[in-house]
Amino acid sequence: MQHRLDALQQRIRQSREAAGRAADTVTLLAVSKTRSAAEIRALATLGITDIGENYLQEALAKQAELADLALTWHFIGPIQSNKTRDIASHFNWVHSVDRARIAHRLNDQRPTGLPPLNVCIQVNVDDERSKSGVSLAEVPELAAVIAALPQLRLRGMMAIPRADAADGGRAAFRTLAMTLSQLRHTIPALDTLSMGMSGDFEAAIAEGATIIRLGTALFGPRPGRA
Ligand SMILES: *Cc1c(COP(=O)(O)O)cnc(C)c1O
Repeated sequence: MQHRLDALQQRIRQSREAAGRAADTVTLLAVSKTRSAAEIRALATLGITDIGENYLQEALAKQAELADLALTWHFIGPIQSNKTRDIASHFNWVHSVDRARIAHRLNDQRPTGLPPLNVCIQVNVDDERSKSGVSLAEVPELAAVIAALPQLRLRGMMAIPRADAADGGRAAFRTLAMTLSQLRHTIPALDTLSMGMSGDFEAAIAEGATIIRLGTALFGPRPGRA
């Protein structure tokens, strides 16, 4: 794992420098669905502490095993409304908010003793029927809803461009970055573009990604589901 991580960090640095971007402007989020708590613990000893999970029950089990570590947990999967209470209580970030009803539930259910939940709006940037996320046109309205909720802190947007784009997703990443900069006119605090996965993170960094979500590039091919 050390070897994979070193190689990845080198590629991240090269893309970042090629884009003229400063150190510490790109966070590596380790996507650990199907991976064990022991694998996450090993990563944490190498300095990776941002952990992304797609499935609530699986995530809660690992969090219980890793409670002694200071990890930052990101929920990145589809959100069913009966899961919002646990997501609001057990995560630091949610990248996949795509409707007002879910935002309201997360806000209402965020425990008052915790800081506001960091939130990204998931955008269906290529308008694919199979993907969740709001359309680009719907972003401003949902952003206004979330920005008004005191227990949520809107940070930016997340997208998963189509995997087969001829340009490696570059145009989609650019579109998302432009949408964020437009939205900053009304919500200046926005600072997050969660975009780029194992197959396309270099293009995402070139277009301004601040969080790249890496699974297979970090852990190797996933066993089982997903
Ligand atoms: C699984 C997943 C990833 C990581 O995908 P890899 O191609 O394995 O890097 C990133 N983001 C989301 C939303 C995912 O579900």
